Parts: sequence; C-alpha cells; structure tokens
Amino acid sequence: MSPAMHILLAEIRTIVGNTHVLTEGDLSAWTQDWRQRSHGRALAVVRPANVDEVARVVSACAIFLAQHPDSGLSIVPQGGNTGLVVGSTPDATGRQIVLSLQRMSTVRRVDTANLTMTVEAGCILQKAQEQARAAGLWFPLSLAAEGTCTIGGNLGTNAGGTQVLRFGNARDLCLGLEVVTPQGDVWQGLSGLRKDNTGYDLKHLYIGAEGTLGIITAATLKLYPLPKAQLTAWAAVPSMEAAVQLLGLAQQHLCASLTGFELMGQFALSLVARHFDNLRLPPYQNTPFCVLLENADTESDVHARNQLEALLEDAMTLGCVTDAVVAENLTQAQTLWQIRESIPLAQASEGLNIKHDISVPVSAFAAFVAHTDALLERAIPGVRLVNFGHLGDGNLHYNVQAPVGMDAAVFLREQEALVNRIVFDSVLAHGGSISAEHGVGSLKVDHLPHYKSPVALSTMRAIKMALDPNNLMNPGRVLRLS
Ligand SMILES: Cc1cc2nc3c(=O)[nH]c(=O)nc-3n(C[C@H](O)[C@H](O)[C@H](O)COP(=O)(O)OP(=O)(O)OC[C@H]3O[C@@H](n4cnc5c(N)ncnc54)[C@H](O)[C@@H]3O)c2cc1C
Repeated sequence: MSPAMHILLAEIRTIVGNTHVLTEGDLSAWTQDWRQRSHGRALAVVRPANVDEVARVVSACAIFLAQHPDSGLSIVPQGGNTGLVVGSTPDATGRQIVLSLQRMSTVRRVDTANLTMTVEAGCILQKAQEQARAAGLWFPLSLAAEGTCTIGGNLGTNAGGTQVLRFGNARDLCLGLEVVTPQGDVWQGLSGLRKDNTGYDLKHLYIGAEGTLGIITAATLKLYPLPKAQLTAWAAVPSMEAAVQLLGLAQQHLCASLTGFELMGQFALSLVARHFDNLRLPPYQNTPFCVLLENADTESDVHARNQLEALLEDAMTLGCVTDAVVAENLTQAQTLWQIRESIPLAQASEGLNIKHDISVPVSAFAAFVAHTDALLERAIPGVRLVNFGHLGDGNLHYNVQAPVGMDAAVFLREQEALVNRIVFDSVLAHGGSISAEHGVGSLKVDHLPHYKSPVALSTMRAIKMALDPNNLMNPGRVLRLS
C-alpha cells in the first residue's frame, strides 16, 4: 500500500472509528461473492454508522482520487452481499474500499397515514417487512434472500422477487431516497410524495444503478394494507403453453388479488427433493412443470378459497391444470413457498452451473423455452435445464447444468461461452432482456454491448460521466467506460 493510501485510511479511521475500518483477518464475508465464484481483495472494509460518516468518507476518497488519478482507488457499496452478478465485492487489485452499509439499519419512521416507511439502506429486508407488519401494514417486496439482503441493495439492483406481478419491482415501491453523491454531497430526497413533477425524477437514476452513481443511505418506501387472507395453491401443468394459459386465467379470476405466479420445472423440483429431505413435495412428479399461485384477498379466507377453487376448476376443465392442491393453513402455505425458494440453494448443492436471469414477453415465453431447449440439447447432448422463475413477470431463471457424469468445472470452462451465446441470442430474438432482475454487475458487463441498444449505452455512459467523472463509484460494473 502506498504511503498516500496509508494517510487516506488514517483519515477514514478518524471519521468512522478504528474498529470500523477492517484491513486484516478474514474479510471473505465482504470480499467473496454469494456464489463464491469471485474472490476479491479490499484496501479496507469501511463501516460507517450514519449518512454524515458516509458523506465524509466519500468526500475524502473523492479528494484523494482527484489528487492521485492513477491510484486505482474506488468504492464498492455493499449491503447484504447476496447479489448474484458480482457487483458488491472488490476486484483483485486491493485498491477498492468496500463501503458496507450494515451498521445503518434503523427504521426511521413508519407513517401509517401516508402509507410509507423510511428506512436506512442497511436495514435487512425482512426487518423492514416485520416493522411494517407491526404497524398493521404490508411491505410486499419479497425474495428468498430477504433474511440477509438490504433495502440499499434491493434498490441498488432494482430487485424483483415474488410479488412483482401485483406491486412491481423495488423501483415501484420507492417514493424517495437519500443519496451520497460521488463528490460526498448528500441529496435529501426522502419526500414520501406520490406526486412530484418538478423535473427529472432523480431517484430513478440511482435505483438499479448498482452503486455506480452514488450511495443510497436511506429510502422512503410504499406500504399497503395487509390482506385479510393469503392463500397458496400448487398446480401441476402439462406444458409451458398450459402454464401461460393458466396465468391468463388466474389474472381474469383474481385480478389484483393475484400476487404470485411462480413456475418450476420438474428437474428443478427433483433437486429440492434430493437436497432437502425435510421438505415434502406435492406428489406431481409426472408433470413437466408445477405452478405456485398466491391469492391475497381483501375480503376473507372463505372468499379467497372459493375464488382459488373456482379458478382451478376452470383450469382443469380447460386442461391447463391436471392436478392441484390449495394449502389448508399457513404452515402448508409456508412449506410450498419454502420448496420454491429452496431451488437456488438445491441447485448450488448440486454443483456449479451456468445461470441466466432472463425475461421475455409472457406471450413469447413458451416459444423461447422450446427454441432454446432444442438448441442447447443439440449443442450439448444430455444437458440438464433447471428452469424456474416468476412467470407472471415473464422472468425465467434459465439455468444450465452439466450432463450427468460431466465434471461441473470442466463444463463451465469449456461450454459457458457457447451456452451464454445460445441463450442470449435466443432472448434477443424473442424480444427479451439478458438480465431481468439480478442486474449486470461484472458478470454481464461484457455481454451488454451485444444485447443493448448502442443509443441506450451511450446515454448511460453520458449519465455516468456527468455524475461520476472520476469513476470513483463501483467502476467496471454495469458499464465499461472505454
Ligand atoms: C437465495 C437468493 C435468492 C435471490 N432471489 C432474488 C429474487 O427473487 N429477485 C431478485 O431481484 N434478486 C434475488 N436475489 C439477488 C439479491 O438478493 C438481490 O439482488 C438483492 O437485492 C441484493 O441485496 P444486497 O443487500 O445483498 O445487495 P449487495 O449484494 O450487497 O449489492 C448488490 C448491488 O447493489 C449495490 N448496492 C448495495 N447497497 C447499495 C447502496 N446502499 N447504495 C447503492 N448501491 C448499493 C452493490 O454495489 C451491488 O452492485 C437472490 C439472491 C439469493 C442469494
């Protein structure tokens, strides 16, 4: 480390306190990504306690970088480090500061009349959900990582999850932000307003920017009344076309009460059965796909059940469902959700695989899957496809596992480029996106120029250069500048 960097770290220590600047010992919780595919090295892990400390740390780094433009210094904002595209961990240079928001986890205010809550960026998503519920309200963002991921990370990635169908992505649930800019200034935009047309809506620049434009330190989020009943059903469907037909039917029957519609391929479910023997799966092993539906009803449990049963009866008559079960109680519903949410973990236990988080219009879903499956099977005979995802949002986790008997590491080394090209070209041909909800990070940054409009990319570059001309914030993620 250069003497100048020593002096910078000493200054940062005076801002956040010695114990909150970590440089030694096992830092892998901050430097290694969730899937353990990337092992970085940090100049330091810095853990500020409040927005003032964040601003002073960023300001010190900005001044340092202006004086030492070749130092390679930069800042990687980090929340729960559950991101799946290697965006929250440092690279191997040892010149990046991981700025962890973990200590900033306070729920500042729940405004029951305005139906909003203001929380700090390091607040764990599950804590935000619980605090809303304690006030008799609902914060509907929900994803399998909710016990670890943070509101700052959710907004940084514009997270999706299981309730997008009804409530939208994290972006749609956010009314205001507090942000520390790359110059170390604080933008106080925690308005909580549902209407404010006074020019560019700045919060949308920072949401989904993956920490490349500034650091979100707090957010004002939308809340909703709690539903009277939340009922879950599990349906066996004979084909992808049938799943799409069931979605349309469910939207007609349940309208805004349909809050979840998750698709799971049989191979994905077989991995859960293999790796989680405590979970009992509904006995529909002879069907290619299953669907998990959720009906959040504002009337009553009986009303919710009647609606769901009428839907499933209609679906069986039409042939798009061959068998189904409605959860009898909360415990059963939770088990059904647990099965769905265990798929990523079961897949991780099965070994390395090539992950894709893609979206296509719902109308193109079945054609995309049939076309891409066929191309992959022709290119790599015996390849195994772990398909699951948020069909209601046109979002599929289209993951590709090595054929039986092939070493997973060898498969990745030899086939990843080919598999990515086949899948992404097919996504493009079907009018989709190569990243539906996980973001770009460093994992997909080099794919973007092939699959995103040049005009969109040059506009994104212009925004980055305007807000962060010295490239202090999370460089090499989302965009390459040269
Ligand atoms: C089991 C599992 C299931 C998942 N399911 C889903 C899912 O259904 N839907 C979905 O969308 N994602 C899912 N994810 C991905 C991940 O949980 C989300 O991307 C989540 O929003 C990341 O939050 P985090 O706090 O862990 O962020 P991190 O991983 O720490 O950071 C993610 C990105 O956001 C940036 N960032 C973090 N904090 C801030 C901040 N305060 N200000 C600015 N930028 C910041 C980081 O620099 C990085 O680029 C899943 C992950 C796992 C492990």
